[in-house]
Amino acid sequence: MAKQTGYCEKDTDYVFPKKFECPMCGNSFKNMTLKTGKARMIGSDDDLRPIHEGIDTVKYDVIMCPACGYGTIARSFGPVTQVQKKYYREYEGPNFFDPSMSSDTVLSYQDALDRYKQALCCCYAKQGPDSEKAYLCLKIAWLLRGWRQALGGKKPNTRAALEEKEKEFLMRARDGFKSANLKESYPLCGMDELTVDYLVASLHVTFGEYDEASKLISGVIARGGRSRIKERAHDLKDKIAELKS
Ligand SMILES: [Zn+2]
Repeated sequence: MAKQTGYCEKDTDYVFPKKFECPMCGNSFKNMTLKTGKARMIGSDDDLRPIHEGIDTVKYDVIMCPACGYGTIARSFGPVTQVQKKYYREYEGPNFFDPSMSSDTVLSYQDALDRYKQALCCCYAKQGPDSEKAYLCLKIAWLLRGWRQALGGKKPNTRAALEEKEKEFLMRARDGFKSANLKESYPLCGMDELTVDYLVASLHVTFGEYDEASKLISGVIARGGRSRIKERAHDLKDKIAELKS
């Protein structure tokens, strides 16, 4: 198991307040962002969650504007269309914006979770693509996993609750990427088709859906060339064989 930390004070070594401009309202603000090359990646889970030494980088992926509450993951934080702006302005769902969530300080897991949930809400408000919602759900699941692992052997009830929530978000990610695969063109949130197929396969494995997983994995192996994702698909194939035996 990779060494991880749940103590946000230590995060200060790895992050800094970076300036951004909000694509929804034009406001300039600072958002805690990872220093390039500072956190060393020491591995990743089957579903591609990155594991870094000393910090859970997943906590810092949401960029959020303190003026209008708009936020999303770094990969999707770019220009928005006029229509999306209109939808966002006119959104009549629950009043989701809490300015205290936008922050230029280090984050606890709870802070990070609140920001991700708001980002997901923003994506619905602007009627964003299924791929963005799916990726946000995937990252929320990764965050919940990191939180659970950071607790070590402590708080068994909290860990059980976090695991249950993680499964719920993994399921939403699985279904969201499948839907995006039918409706959107690649890349999806920066991922090519092979990567998304591999990812969905790994999510199927999590839920014991080995037939669906195997079909996707065969496709990745057949089309993967010499890619790293093909190697991972082979590993996943071996894992399925083990789990089924
Ligand atoms: Zn804004």
